[in-house]
Amino acid sequence: MSARPILWIVIPCYNEEQVLPITAPMFLNKIKELADQGKISKNSRVLFVNDGSKDKTWEIICNLAKKDERFIGICQSRNRGHQNAVLAGLMEAKDKCDITISIDCDGQDDINAMDKMVDEYLAGCEVVYGVRSKRATDTWFKRTTAEGFYKLMNALGAEVVFNHADYRLVSSRVLNHFAEYEEVNIFLRGMFPLVGFKSTSVYYERAERIAGESHYPLKKMLALAFNGITSLSVKPIAIITGIGVGVSLLGLIVAIWAIVEAVLGNTMAGWTSMVCIVCLLGGVQLVSLGVIGQYIGKTYLEAKRRPRYIISERTWESNERHWIEEK
Ligand code: UDP
Ligand code: MG
Repeated sequence: MSARPILWIVIPCYNEEQVLPITAPMFLNKIKELADQGKISKNSRVLFVNDGSKDKTWEIICNLAKKDERFIGICQSRNRGHQNAVLAGLMEAKDKCDITISIDCDGQDDINAMDKMVDEYLAGCEVVYGVRSKRATDTWFKRTTAEGFYKLMNALGAEVVFNHADYRLVSSRVLNHFAEYEEVNIFLRGMFPLVGFKSTSVYYERAERIAGESHYPLKKMLALAFNGITSLSVKPIAIITGIGVGVSLLGLIVAIWAIVEAVLGNTMAGWTSMVCIVCLLGGVQLVSLGVIGQYIGKTYLEAKRRPRYIISERTWESNERHWIEEK
């Protein structure tokens, strides 16, 4: 381990023109502060990943990069979602620095927790998870659904750190191994525990967004949760098989009962019970087909091995356009 590690802070940004001007200086101050304390190298950087924003986010990033060489940015060719944006940033950073810290750009995650993260790295940890100690600023609904999700994930056998989102320190050594996980359906917070290496957690309180609005409405949250489950666990398929066996047994018992009743000469209990069973079975079958179909769909997407991100521009390359005039 070199004496002073180079830190790259990786920040995904999607339509963040309102927050970026406020939070960007905060990130820069943090690397200055850490460098002054001698914990990280003066060559550390703040890397913004523009995730195909439709507003002025990329222009703001380019202007920041012109003002201070410690601000740098990459631009994705289109919007690909938060997970892919973080991945693009981490993969860009992995060979150019010793440690990365990924964090959202809205100021919700306490920037000061980075001190503790770097301390833990210097003490020998390669992955440091930022964990929300309280969710007081989240609505009751968001808190309950999010915490329920972590519990469900663990129950399904996917190892995720409780209340950890995508605020984490990862060493470049871990990132190099992580790069070998080539799946398209990525759920970062569940994948780093799979890579292994010494890890720990630091705790912080999550604040409100400084400005702008959340990009995670319920629909996207559900999609992320479902992606997480299908990316990390095949238990739902086992559960479906279990339900299938259970329902079949139930059907068998009902059939025996019906035969016994018929032999005893009792009239059948009418069609209500029949309809109930048919509906129950139909429902279970449709849901089961749906879940299995989701896995087949994921397999299909994985089989195509399409690129997970495409970088269209880098702030440090934007001056290399002379050839256009030369032609
Ligand atoms: N983000 C992104 N691409 C997207 C959506 C969001 O890069 O398609 C970024 C966004 O700019 C922010 C982070 O991901 O830095 C988290 O998004 P947000 O704060 O809206 O989510 P929340 O904190 O409400 O879950
Ligand atoms: Mg946020």
